[in-house]
Amino acid sequence: MFDFATRLLRKYHPAPAFDLDTLKRIHADYLASAAVHPDREVWLRDINDSEFARDLISRRAGKKDDDLSWTNLLLNLLQNNRFEPHHDDFAGSMLAAAADALLRAGRATEALSFAELAFAHSIYDLWVQRVLTAVRAHARGTPEIVDETEQWLKTKFCSAPFDTVETISNSQMAICCPLWLPVSIGGFKDKSIEEALNSKSVQLVRKSIVDGSYRYCSRVHCVRITERDLPSRESINLASLEATVYPKYVTFSHDQSCNLSCPSCRGHVVIVPKSQRDNFISIPDFLLPLMLNAESVKICGSGDPFASWHFRSLLKAYCSHVGAHRNIVLHTNGVLCDQRSWSALGLSTFVKTVMVSLDAAEEETYSYTRRGGQWRRVLDNIRFLSQLKIRGAIDTIELLFVVQNRNFREMIDFVHLAKSLGADKVLFQAITNWGTYSEIEFEEHNIFSLTHPNHQALLELLNDEIFDDPIVDLFSVGKFRKKFFK
Ligand code: SF4
Ligand code: SF4
Repeated sequence: MFDFATRLLRKYHPAPAFDLDTLKRIHADYLASAAVHPDREVWLRDINDSEFARDLISRRAGKKDDDLSWTNLLLNLLQNNRFEPHHDDFAGSMLAAAADALLRAGRATEALSFAELAFAHSIYDLWVQRVLTAVRAHARGTPEIVDETEQWLKTKFCSAPFDTVETISNSQMAICCPLWLPVSIGGFKDKSIEEALNSKSVQLVRKSIVDGSYRYCSRVHCVRITERDLPSRESINLASLEATVYPKYVTFSHDQSCNLSCPSCRGHVVIVPKSQRDNFISIPDFLLPLMLNAESVKICGSGDPFASWHFRSLLKAYCSHVGAHRNIVLHTNGVLCDQRSWSALGLSTFVKTVMVSLDAAEEETYSYTRRGGQWRRVLDNIRFLSQLKIRGAIDTIELLFVVQNRNFREMIDFVHLAKSLGADKVLFQAITNWGTYSEIEFEEHNIFSLTHPNHQALLELLNDEIFDDPIVDLFSVGKFRKKFFK
């Protein structure tokens, strides 16, 4: 953490000076930001009891000199281990508060640097995201977009918190993608699905959709919001949504096992051994009923289904069940997705979609983006999937590409490659820092930062008409195209 503070100060030296009123407002804004997190009462109490807060309070009461710039205070804060375990969140929020103050002071360029840094530091923090959204909107000359988004949301309805469940690490559950809606609804080891879906957290989130505030939803990560892709309020039958017992859409992301170690995802290969697979909840009691009653079950959002002992045994159990139907969506790196696995797991006709993530159109780039993967073997396996599709054993094949500085110039070739392999869809996603990169490293990879030296080159590339092709889904990259060229 000290390194981070040193880098920060070196980067922004000489530090902008703020008066005490600004500092007080930064702190007040920061404390207010805690209110958007329903599970942060303890953390808020710790902050209020901290030396940092006491120092501010005594300054506010005029008991100390007002000679500290906010950056000095931030440095003190970053070196103070007493803010663990919320240390990172606190640093990110302070950086965002600084960005907010700079924006209000009319120093938009400096605000953008701070806001991007805050976001790289705290990708889940909704308040950091709100500041980033405002700062980016100003930088692009469209500040009105922030209010427009809020007004638009008041007229729309999202059913995800009523019909979606995702299992996540530590046996927790979410009711949307946990990056888009960073609220855990509790553990799944000790609850029935009915209990979990009637918890206080679920009620709070659903209320925020009904009242149009979307208080817990990310305006940065949620593609349904950034792409203006939600139905109108009038088209929704709320009573029938509320009566739903089993979710329609299920994603399993509780096992991180994967045969690869891609740099954008993890530092080393993670395989949960067979001996520990029972750490996960028992298959018959919870997961199988979820699968049998869902329209779509995605396995998985956390690793690779074929590399996980747990997911392999789950798929085997499901496919041999009398109630199994074609609702499985496999999300895989493709290396182990071959005829042998298909037969061994008895997947037969129960898979409707296979999503293969490649992040490259050339072997050399692939060997970087999918560390440990085998390019030719994966291409052969996608051809195997194409044959399954021709025989009617699966419905669709999707190829995925996480866009970053290293590969963005291969986006056009990737669409051509996907077509030659018989894919139905090409999905582009913006790179996210899952904690594998330091802030400085991520700055280099994050071509979506408005301050990245190749950001303009990306915008120009996105102007190519190939991205209008119906098989292309720009997903979280889409907002960077529309904003400038449509
Ligand atoms: S984050 Fe997006 S998809 Fe999730 S509940 Fe909110 S609006 Fe819906
Ligand atoms: S293949 Fe996917 S899950 Fe596995 S390490 Fe790479 S990005 Fe992560």
